[in-house]
Amino acid sequence: MRNENASFIKPTNALVDRRRFLQASGACGLTLLAPELARSRAQGPRDEKIRLGVIADVHQDIMHDGVERITAFLSDMQSQQAHGIVNLGDFCVPHSRNDPFMAKWNEFTGSKFHVLGNHDTDGGFRREQTVEYYQSPGRYFSQDLHGLHLIALDGNDPDGKPGYPCNVNDEQLKWLEADLQATHLPTVIMIHQPIDGFDKHVRSSAKVREVLANENRRVGFRKIILVLSGHAHLDYIKETDSIPHVQINSASYAWVGKKHANYSAEIQAKYPSIASTCPYAEPLWASLTFDLKAGTIQIQGRETTWVGPTPWELGFAEDDYQRSRELSRPAIASHRIDI
Ligand SMILES: [Zn+2]
Repeated sequence: MRNENASFIKPTNALVDRRRFLQASGACGLTLLAPELARSRAQGPRDEKIRLGVIADVHQDIMHDGVERITAFLSDMQSQQAHGIVNLGDFCVPHSRNDPFMAKWNEFTGSKFHVLGNHDTDGGFRREQTVEYYQSPGRYFSQDLHGLHLIALDGNDPDGKPGYPCNVNDEQLKWLEADLQATHLPTVIMIHQPIDGFDKHVRSSAKVREVLANENRRVGFRKIILVLSGHAHLDYIKETDSIPHVQINSASYAWVGKKHANYSAEIQAKYPSIASTCPYAEPLWASLTFDLKAGTIQIQGRETTWVGPTPWELGFAEDDYQRSRELSRPAIASHRIDI
């Protein structure tokens, strides 16, 4: 894939998916109080719009073209003059073979944020090693960005169960509670695994949602304005407790776990796991614009096509979540969310 191909992808029309937007926006009982908005606006950029680029599940350790995918993302973010970029996890393991990939990411001159994915420690790495490799402040942390409070959580706390850990432990929850209480800024939560009401991924997701809902109730306005996650490689918004949870689709593929023809035999021989994916022809990412003056979050998505057969052409049955034709598609829909 050549970088210039990226320009052929049409960003999806802002309000094209009206039905989904209405579904997502639902009835919001809480609003951001004017004094809080005014205070955070005073810390924002002059045009009062904060631009954040978000990319999820690049899976550099699986893909043959991970460097090209983030190169296309970074070039779009530089040209949009984004204030910050976010990696939502399943990015790369801290192995020297990934140095060129990391170096490309680090070319971005604005703020850079890393959320830890479950695959970022594959091959026996510890989470701390990945954090150090990313030059990230910690497994979980918070940072202010032009009047927005960004919180990165680590959904990979072990809880003794088999398989990949998918849990936010009590120690981290206590930290989250205190961190939320210490800020007056509109807050965005970023976590690799979805913690939305589907309850498909994080074992303690109801406890995390409770902390967020409690804080909004305690202050009497919607302080937590958005939750961003990756991991599921799906495209949807699900609102819980008046907080929109946005699932950001993978930059690279839908995992099907069934080897089949997609890229050439040469690529498949060199990158064996790629045969178990339904790849996205062009990389996907989302451009978020927080307009604190208008009180809106604009999510600008992108859409592309499958490489090779779709999951359903491979014989997978349609279901309500992972194999839903509505949620699993090579696209990130655009939305406008009222804060
Ligand atoms: Zn993951």
